Amino acid sequence: MQLTELTAVELGNKIRTGEIGAVEAAQASLEQIGRLDFRVQAYLTVEPEKVLLQAAEVERGIRSGALTGALAGVPIAVKDNICTKDMKTTCASRILENFVPFYDAEAVVRLKDAGLVVLGKTNMDEFAMGSTTETSAFQTTKNPWELSHVPGGSSGGSCAAVAAGECFAALGSDTGGSIRQPSSYCGVAGIKPTYGTVSRYGLIAYASSLDQIGPIAKDVRDCAALLEVIAAQDKKDSTSMARPDTNFLQAVGQSVKGLRVGIPTEYLSEGLDDDVQEAVMRAAGYLKEAGAVVEEFKLGLMEYTIPAYYVIASAEASSNLERFDGVKYGYRAKEYEGLHDMYKRSRSEGFGPEVRRRIMLGSFVLSSGYYDAYYLKALRVRARIKQAFDEAFSGYDMILGPAAPTAAPRLGTSLADPMKMYLSDIYTVAVNLAGLPGLTVPCMVNAEGLPIGVQLIGDCFAEKKLFAAGAGLEAVRGPWMQSDLVRGEEQK
Ligand code: GLN
Repeated sequence: MQLTELTAVELGNKIRTGEIGAVEAAQASLEQIGRLDFRVQAYLTVEPEKVLLQAAEVERGIRSGALTGALAGVPIAVKDNICTKDMKTTCASRILENFVPFYDAEAVVRLKDAGLVVLGKTNMDEFAMGSTTETSAFQTTKNPWELSHVPGGSSGGSCAAVAAGECFAALGSDTGGSIRQPSSYCGVAGIKPTYGTVSRYGLIAYASSLDQIGPIAKDVRDCAALLEVIAAQDKKDSTSMARPDTNFLQAVGQSVKGLRVGIPTEYLSEGLDDDVQEAVMRAAGYLKEAGAVVEEFKLGLMEYTIPAYYVIASAEASSNLERFDGVKYGYRAKEYEGLHDMYKRSRSEGFGPEVRRRIMLGSFVLSSGYYDAYYLKALRVRARIKQAFDEAFSGYDMILGPAAPTAAPRLGTSLADPMKMYLSDIYTVAVNLAGLPGLTVPCMVNAEGLPIGVQLIGDCFAEKKLFAAGAGLEAVRGPWMQSDLVRGEEQK
């Protein structure tokens, strides 16, 4: 077995016992990046010298007994909308092409304090707006299972890097599905935690009331271990919470006997591909075999989630992205006449078409005369959606469903029709509107050789139940596969 095939927890154990060195692990990841990333194109930035220096320092820390955490020495990738001190953070946008933060995001501070080694920054949809990573201004990331397909998005780079063994785990961000959907497409595990669990300090904001940073990894246990590292209240993010229950690893392996799992009938209706339906049914079977009770129920309000999400997310985005004006940050147009023209040109040239579309939509729904009709109405719908989930969780411990209606689409087929792309977020956005945790677990590989994951949705603060159920599902499913590319068996 190759070193890069270990899970993060397995590697952490071997590093702790001295069987593998932190530098050796970092080197293995860098080699895998060298071997595969010119094809996968998951990373925007990798700085090997810095990585090896950090790994050497961590190795000293482990030897001296200063670093004792489960993941000390484990190499990790970070999505490029999460600030990293002295390392470029571009949001995959021209407007931030040369932005080098002078501070680490709180989640990154916590990674480094726990001895994880940051390998580099991963590609994403520009400002996390998109579902395929194709709106990146810089490169197109490929799905390691089928290089002609997208990895999903917006955390497509992070998910592809994990799937290709080019890191042992990664951080992503999820505003409307950006951890869970690409995790499904890439055959990895990923969790969007309850809103407020991970500090958003240093996460470049898309829609602040929906954004959450979360782990992406090879399996559920790794996600739990990583969430344990990054979950904490932070006085620099007033929406972050003190949670007494962040010992998530403890939940992995716990029995799921008697657990009540509901599948919303609406999730299985039209628009869902047969193979995704099959994945959900298989997952239901696995959970039943593990002792859970699984049944269908009516959740309601499905048809309102996409419109409400796109109104609220765009409104917040239009406000958050005001700060990119060509004065304080990043790109400034070369030629302009006067201040207003400079703003206009810098923003028109610096932002790509999808970001500009959202800014226009957001400004529109917030403008006087339309605010009540669209934005306020969307907020009311949001409250109703939360109620519908509250009701569901009075009868069920968790909800099982798809993470996306299809497996990963082919490259180049999604961007032409933005409406269709928005509609594909149907199974993920409600979770962010209601602030809930959602976990994607890899479930099967379809006839085309593409992986499909399923989503477990919990009530607020119910991550432990999700980890227990996710790990229970994995145990019945059996060991997960790797793509031909990673096994080195892909036909050239
Ligand atoms: N696809 C969704 C959007 O474009 C979700 C993105 C995300 O979660 N960052 O808004």
